[in-house]
Amino acid sequence: MDTQTSRLEGILQRLRARGFRITPQRLAIVRLALADARHPSVEELYESIRRDFPTTSLATVYKTLTLLREMGEVNVVDGCQGVAHYDGLDPSPHAHLICLRCGRIADLALPALDNLRQTVAQGIAGWKLSQGPNFYGICPRCRGQEPAGEAKDHLADDSSVTRGRANE
Ligand SMILES: [Zn+2]
Ligand SMILES: [Zn+2]
Repeated sequence: MDTQTSRLEGILQRLRARGFRITPQRLAIVRLALADARHPSVEELYESIRRDFPTTSLATVYKTLTLLREMGEVNVVDGCQGVAHYDGLDPSPHAHLICLRCGRIADLALPALDNLRQTVAQGIAGWKLSQGPNFYGICPRCRGQEPAGEAKDHLADDSSVTRGRANE
């Protein structure tokens, strides 16, 4: 069992323990929420789920995300237009790059930012930090520097700013 599968199994067990019935469509929502690297909004997840489960309601998607968020398995990133985006692939606090034009959100891995978060956390006893810091700008796709056909939904394969790569 790989890490992602065992993580899913653990989460499903905890959901069942909370009395949450795992229907096929709810399973699909959980799976997607944990695997979608785009930092999707609730509407984007809803659109993806409806391809396989056309009868899914927006309320079901929202309720499932809220539960996952309460369990600490999904974080919310504030997009640039006041839209909440869900980050389930990596629920640990981290920094993001957000495109002001298309709203695309990418993970930003810089050890200096982790240190900054720690420093801030130590200086604000009693507070719980949410996601961030966030940096805003115009992404390469919107600047015309990335061919539309090769555009990625996230930067997991990009070289410079990808989570993890910065440590190589
Ligand atoms: Zn963009
Ligand atoms: Zn993220």
